[in-house]
Amino acid sequence: MRVCVLGAGVVGLTSAYQLARDGHDVTILEGRDGAALETSFANGGQLSYSYVAPLADPSVLPHLPAWLLQRDSALRFVPRLDVQQWRWCLSFLLACRGSRARQTAMEMLQLGALSRDALHELVQREAIDFNYVRNGKLVVYRDAQAFDAARRKMAYLAAAGSDQRALDAAACVALEPALERAQPLLAGGIHTPSEEAGDCYTFGVALAGLLQARYGVAIHYATPVESMIIEAAEAVAARTPHGEIRADAFVVALGNGSAPLLRTLGVRLPMYPLTGYSLTLPGTPGHAPRVSVTDLHRKVVYAPLGERLRIAGMVEIAGMSVAQRERRLALLRRQAQEIFPDAGDYAVAETWCGHRPATPDSKPLLGATPYRNLWLNTGHGALGFTLACGSARVIADAIAGRTPPLDLGAYSWQR
Ligand SMILES: Cc1cc2nc3c(=O)[nH]c(=O)nc-3n(C[C@H](O)[C@H](O)[C@H](O)COP(=O)(O)OP(=O)(O)OC[C@H]3O[C@@H](n4cnc5c(N)ncnc54)[C@H](O)[C@@H]3O)c2cc1C
Repeated sequence: MRVCVLGAGVVGLTSAYQLARDGHDVTILEGRDGAALETSFANGGQLSYSYVAPLADPSVLPHLPAWLLQRDSALRFVPRLDVQQWRWCLSFLLACRGSRARQTAMEMLQLGALSRDALHELVQREAIDFNYVRNGKLVVYRDAQAFDAARRKMAYLAAAGSDQRALDAAACVALEPALERAQPLLAGGIHTPSEEAGDCYTFGVALAGLLQARYGVAIHYATPVESMIIEAAEAVAARTPHGEIRADAFVVALGNGSAPLLRTLGVRLPMYPLTGYSLTLPGTPGHAPRVSVTDLHRKVVYAPLGERLRIAGMVEIAGMSVAQRERRLALLRRQAQEIFPDAGDYAVAETWCGHRPATPDSKPLLGATPYRNLWLNTGHGALGFTLACGSARVIADAIAGRTPPLDLGAYSWQR
């Protein structure tokens, strides 16, 4: 079958990989000049299969006033005259109900486990270098109450197959010596040895090269998809400035470009961009962490990428605006220096701002659309790198007519 994947971010590229391995004739259309240049470019680098719980959870409700009022809050809501923003926020609040959040967390753990297996198979089969490490993750807590609550949740994660250990502050430092100067700030941490890290951009570029060289996939860069041509409830072609690209099936993996394209077809995807920021430091050996670390109090993640250190954080519900960029990056730099003061030269850090293509309940949108051969693989929010390989497998199964290993209804755009 001829399958056309729209978008060459990590989700589109992994989709193309699974489809090519199924023997399809695959073409990718990408608006930018290369692979993984949008949200997949400089994200947190964590492959965090056990930490996939949704942002929408009853525990966020007491924090809402701070989001609205404090300029330096990790999570910020910047109200706009934008119906989509308000609709998304309302759905987010509804997704905070306890029973729904628990159900979502279980479903996401299943997709996380599938993604880990699929990525492991990929790295075993293909020689692909992306600073990939199975280095484990340490989530550190500054507040004893929050640490206790996390310890209570361990049993629930263990039931879902996660191997975790609770560590006091000294044990955190023993595990990750780069935390030494932060020890007085810490109440403790939870270590998950099975978590991993890698450079999503390098992964995307290497995968794009592999797809072209080994799997005969055609990638058309600088080819924005303007619209879809539909005949008798089927997609027949993607319209681009360079002409129409025809195929038997299409996969929409356009990240933040997905909702605008689908809107032209009368389909309203529940997605909104959540802005975040990252710094990339040339790490200082011995002083930069080798374990992935999440500072839960600040909601900042740290991942070693070879000799570099990736630092990422902040969630802003502010549309595609980058008005706060410099101020928020300065805040991120200060917060990182608080916990890893000697990790590297902060003055020369590379800076980046990206927009997570997020659904209100954090679950991606996978599966069918009202158009028989037009499929969705989008809306991965804060976890697109982590969940890409499993999502790709699910969508390849659906296109091949195989029963996917999870309930697609739970990922429907109409759920
Ligand atoms: C600060 C930050 C930290 C993060 N940290 C992590 C992390 O640690 N771990 C993790 O798993 N995830 C993380 N994420 C999330 C992750 O980066 C995203 O979920 C993921 O990159 C989404 O991939 P994607 O392929 O769906 O979207 P994208 O990477 O944005 O790809 C979509 C592609 O479609 C193209 N496109 C859009 N519209 C069109 C069009 N009309 N025609 C043609 N092409 C088009 C774009 O150019 C783009 O290349 C983070 C995100 C941010 C912002």
